[in-house]
Amino acid sequence: MFTPTEEQQMLIDMMGKFAEKEIAPNILQWEEEGKFARHIFDKLGELGFCGMTITEEYGGGGLGYMTYAMVLEEGAIKTGGGLGFLPLHLAAATPIEAFGTKEQKEKYLTKMTAGKALGAFALTEPNAGSDAAAIMTSAVLRGDRYVLNGAKSFITNAGEAELYLVMAKTDKDKGANGISSFIVEKDAPGFIVGQKEKKMGLNYISTRGLTFEECEVPLANRVGEENKGFLSAMYALDGSRIGVAASATGISQAALNAAVSYAKQRYAFGQPIANFQIIQFMLADMETETVASRMLAYRAASMKDEGKKIAAAAAMAKRYATDTAMRVTTNAVQILGGYGYMKEYTVERYMREAKLLQIVEGTSQIQGLVVARELLK
Ligand SMILES: Cc1cc2nc3c(=O)[nH]c(=O)nc-3n(C[C@H](O)[C@H](O)[C@H](O)COP(=O)(O)OP(=O)(O)OC[C@H]3O[C@@H](n4cnc5c(N)ncnc54)[C@H](O)[C@@H]3O)c2cc1C
Repeated sequence: MFTPTEEQQMLIDMMGKFAEKEIAPNILQWEEEGKFARHIFDKLGELGFCGMTITEEYGGGGLGYMTYAMVLEEGAIKTGGGLGFLPLHLAAATPIEAFGTKEQKEKYLTKMTAGKALGAFALTEPNAGSDAAAIMTSAVLRGDRYVLNGAKSFITNAGEAELYLVMAKTDKDKGANGISSFIVEKDAPGFIVGQKEKKMGLNYISTRGLTFEECEVPLANRVGEENKGFLSAMYALDGSRIGVAASATGISQAALNAAVSYAKQRYAFGQPIANFQIIQFMLADMETETVASRMLAYRAASMKDEGKKIAAAAAMAKRYATDTAMRVTTNAVQILGGYGYMKEYTVERYMREAKLLQIVEGTSQIQGLVVARELLK
């Protein structure tokens, strides 16, 4: 079940080698310096990883979500996270592919898939996160331009990205049915990027607020029909949640690997701590839940590749895999004892990365609501 094909295995190995050599040895330093390693995005573009799920016609890999999940998981195993900017880059690219015009695809999508333009996905606002339909940023059509006013918060890749997929209200009385999405270029007039947020983790990825002050966006940059932007945002998030579930699985696997290897070599009371049954049971639970996370992520991915509706499957996978990653990484820190709390041993970073995954792209509570909604309809 879910055995990689020869092509998938080649891509997994390519990502694994790249992540192990180029990211893993440096990530703690980038984290401490708060430095975004742009050259990593550039190189991922050269390797064909910036548009994995996008059609080959626009420079993507045309690979499908199963391959995407496997490759992202491998990157996370080798780095304990490390590629968090990629799902949100793709969340910006996916609606352009699915709903954009030919001109938008030629002008923007091809740059995104080639790794020449980093994307950001801007939905959340200071007063609207889980309740995304309550966003207040407005977009008013004046002649051949939309004029945007409002603010976004916690936007991944902001300040580094060249292109922003921005959701704004084109009809403030229609809730989710009054939202449209727009491609905003980084130097659009009236587009202001805020200060870099100071975070618990992932400081090697930029997170900033955005402000729109009479920001002018050409009519040609609206993605899809007017007032249909919420649908395209949810479409992007469904796919992107598969990526988050796969990344969370990789983080769990990285933490488990560290815990197993430490438990075998750390002695207490005259024997390896791996001999203690309580440690064995912790490891057994960590392994079981990691495997279950992988199965749920792959299930959602294969359903997506088969063209099925995946809102509930992706939400289930995202919720289970990220909650598991939090439990597994916390237990890994516990198994490493005092060393687990030290940065040098890296599992503490895995724990901080896992925490974010329970929040970003819809919290675990919201994923639970999506699953329940499907059950109770
Ligand atoms: C580092 C970071 C990067 C991010 N990157 C991006 C990005 O690139 N683009 C973007 O658009 N957003 C981004 N976000 C925002 C993220 O998606 C939101 O923070 C998240 O959706 C939650 O919204 P909120 O913070 O407003 O919390 P709230 O919506 O205020 O929720 C607060 C708490 O209430 C719970 N809650 C809310 N409603 C319900 C309910 N109906 N039932 C039960 N519980 C509920 C939530 O689960 C949560 O525990 C990022 C956030 C962080 C921290």
